[in-house]
Amino acid sequence: MSEQNNRPVSDPVARRRTFAIISHPDAGKTTLTEKFLLFGGAIQLAGEVKAKRNRVSTRSDWMGIEKDRGISVVTSVMTFEYGDCVFNLLDTPGHEDFSEDTYRTLTAVDSAIMVIDAAKGIEDRTRKLFEVCRMRDIPIITFINKLDRESQNPFELLDEIEKTLALDTSPVTWPIGQGKSFAGTYSLQDKKVRHFNEGEADVVVSGPEDALFDKLLPASDVATWREETELAAEALQPFDYKAFLEGHLTPVYFGSALKNFGVRDLMDAIAALAPPPRDQEADSRMISAREKNMSGFVFKIQANMDPNHRDRIAFMRVCSGKLSRGMKVKLVRTGKQMSLSAPQFFFAQDRALADEAYAGDVVGIPNHGTLRIGDTLTEGEEILFRGVPSFAPEILRRIKLQDAMKAKKLREALQQMAEEGVVQVFIPQDGSAAIVGVVGALQLDVLAERMRIEYSLPIAFEPVRFTVCRWVTCSESAELDKFMAAHRSSLSSDLDGAPVFMATSPFSLQYEAERFPKIEFSDVKDYQ
Ligand code: GDP
Repeated sequence: MSEQNNRPVSDPVARRRTFAIISHPDAGKTTLTEKFLLFGGAIQLAGEVKAKRNRVSTRSDWMGIEKDRGISVVTSVMTFEYGDCVFNLLDTPGHEDFSEDTYRTLTAVDSAIMVIDAAKGIEDRTRKLFEVCRMRDIPIITFINKLDRESQNPFELLDEIEKTLALDTSPVTWPIGQGKSFAGTYSLQDKKVRHFNEGEADVVVSGPEDALFDKLLPASDVATWREETELAAEALQPFDYKAFLEGHLTPVYFGSALKNFGVRDLMDAIAALAPPPRDQEADSRMISAREKNMSGFVFKIQANMDPNHRDRIAFMRVCSGKLSRGMKVKLVRTGKQMSLSAPQFFFAQDRALADEAYAGDVVGIPNHGTLRIGDTLTEGEEILFRGVPSFAPEILRRIKLQDAMKAKKLREALQQMAEEGVVQVFIPQDGSAAIVGVVGALQLDVLAERMRIEYSLPIAFEPVRFTVCRWVTCSESAELDKFMAAHRSSLSSDLDGAPVFMATSPFSLQYEAERFPKIEFSDVKDYQ
């Protein structure tokens, strides 16, 4: 791989690598994260992934529900140094009910690692997450994990990536055996053997014909292995760095996260290949990471991370300039100034005040409800970053409040939850009780639990007759008014007051769309 990022250590932007790991549950994301933190010196001891319930977690498991169910509900960020680079690893919830959170997090990364289980190949969720990355042309580095177990043939795996994801592959390493006979990897370009057995040093060999492979592989396998590896080496094109940066080609590494094998190669690949902070699209212009003035957007809000200290943290990706502790910034949505008096960096299990941060960094900003998802902060310029989306929820429920005297408190609490992106809240225009919308049912459990614990508001959910909702817009305001007048009982307003049409079935939605062809029914909305 000839083209690499030049990164003088003195250049803070060039050093940054902001990325996420995408995978199907159980492919090994947690294990890999732990190994990254271990090799990056961020934690002393990578706790082997035990039963998820009581393991030493690399994630903040501050929320009871997360502990109870043994799943990671929250998105967090882990910052650590590796070589000359600063890695910002953004964690995403493993459970698909929290996919909205994951999509929002992926708007804040510059690259992603796709972890694939070598036995299972591409799975459902890998594909979905990949598609989100593709929408933003995020470059992907692939790690095929669990080679120490029975695995599919490497050609089959590469073929599956190419066919199901329409993504070209460029294997950097090639497995030597698999499962019980897994002996290590062979790098196709520099002909280096990395032994699975840690005691043995890497060696450069003459090629797949080298006699070393007779020792490493069972006699019955070695001829086929040579043939296949020759083929892989011949098929290998010079690495097309541009195609990688545009998200059309992925370098592929093989290894075993559990056995610490191939993890360093992967980290080296992030340092060498993954791009530094990209330019970001705002409403009026592109913002370069190298611009002098600080700008950033909020992609995640997390409340009560520390149970002893009620707080609300907005996670902001810095897009340009330098953030200094104490600086005054403008919250573009409201036009108001705020002071960044205590921005924070997050490490494996710790956090610390961030005195300065640069493009690509993710800082936590403590606040009391001033900031919402999608907010843009600048040094004064009126720009809005695009692309922190909201998706039309698939599950709609009406909130049933046990104590009717607390209606006002409920409204305030729901507003907060909507601003944090926990759920979406819709206020029906006919004056009936608020409707909440979620993509996954577990979000409702989180809402109920947080209402009970944080606001002392026990709530229940009731079914509604609607199953589909869409944001409605129209270039002709008279037409929109006509539509709204005809559908009072099926219209609600979202957090920003935007009209949302609710239908009892996809069929009735389609019927309305045909009756009102000028109305646009959208299932995605950018946060503004
Ligand atoms: P996640 O759901 O993607 O975060 O997956 P985990 O990291 O929790 O891993 C799921 C299971 O696979 C755990 O039991 C891990 O110990 C196991 N695992 C992860 N990586 C490897 C590997 O390289 N080899 C083997 N044999 N098991 C692995």
